[in-house]
Amino acid sequence: MKSIYDYPLVDLINYFEEIGETKYRASQVFQWLYVKRVKSFEKMTNLKKTLTKFLSENFKIDELKLIKKQEDVDVKKYLFELYDGNIIEAVLMKHDYGNSICVSSQVGCNMGCSFCESGRLKKARNLYAFELVEQVLKVEEDIKDRISHVVLMGIGEPFDNYDNVMRFIKIINDPKGINIGIRHITISTCGIVPKIKKFMEEKTGVNLAISLHAPNNEIRSNIMPINKVYNIEEIISSVKEYIKVTNRRITFEYILLNGVNDSEDCAKELVKLLKGINCYVNLIPYNETSNIKYKPSKKVTINKFYDILKKNSINVTIRREFGSKVSAACGQLRSQQITRK
Ligand code: SAH
Repeated sequence: MKSIYDYPLVDLINYFEEIGETKYRASQVFQWLYVKRVKSFEKMTNLKKTLTKFLSENFKIDELKLIKKQEDVDVKKYLFELYDGNIIEAVLMKHDYGNSICVSSQVGCNMGCSFCESGRLKKARNLYAFELVEQVLKVEEDIKDRISHVVLMGIGEPFDNYDNVMRFIKIINDPKGINIGIRHITISTCGIVPKIKKFMEEKTGVNLAISLHAPNNEIRSNIMPINKVYNIEEIISSVKEYIKVTNRRITFEYILLNGVNDSEDCAKELVKLLKGINCYVNLIPYNETSNIKYKPSKKVTINKFYDILKKNSINVTIRREFGSKVSAACGQLRSQQITRK
């Protein structure tokens, strides 16, 4: 059975027209779901009985089960069980500019980045759009506040689940519903070049972040297998085209791993690679995980790396560390839960 949360408003309207209902009824249902936030068709009191009955018999609603929550200052981590027993996670971060949520896009991940906990558990399946939507709804319900920013940086590779992710964005961006501003949504990819191009052509206004993590192919291929399919040159050339076509700045994420990609030479090589590109570099202190060989870079090394970029006019920030106490790094809570089983 389909979930009603899987429909952007236009699709819901089309569907309603197909079943002989009106556009107006579809808008009413959409409003009940995303403005009034009711979780059963029976509570949609201005619908005809026959329609309520039809919807109840044909659509699921409210599928995600919150099974665990961990809290720390300014960060909350949620573990959800899906209808088929799979588990995913979402993280809420409180910033001074609002509440941002990091959502998962797949159950597990096939990209196999060696430093990442999510990849340890291979992809079981893609998430449906409704399972992404419900992560936002459940967290808003829990914090009794609105979420202002959404990042697709949880478990999974969003561009390996392209259509459902785009559907999700359409739903949460709708001003008649959850209404999260398009420029407050960020997709992060490990660099699937054909999808970067497709995404560019759609000109959605959504922010794009690319997990670069290395200044050359040798290091990158060592830590990110996807680099053997789409290498740095291909990424950089697609990024340049992306910026030209969309007129938007790109963010590069760069995890600093002790002794792997954090040397002064790496910083200088990164400067050369990115010189003249309208981009931001987000340096990410590595969040240590229990079962992986990498160590975070030392504070002084991080600062040195930052200074070299800064001095060479590269826009750079060091990501504030959130939630190391609550295992907030990508896939950690889920993998702990599954390992314990
Ligand atoms: N697959 C996408 C999005 C999910 S990962 C991507 O690769 O971009 C989101 C970000 O978290 C990526 O930059 C990823 O490399 C990073 N990440 C993964 N494990 C981490 C860890 N232990 N500490 C810090 N960042 C991590």
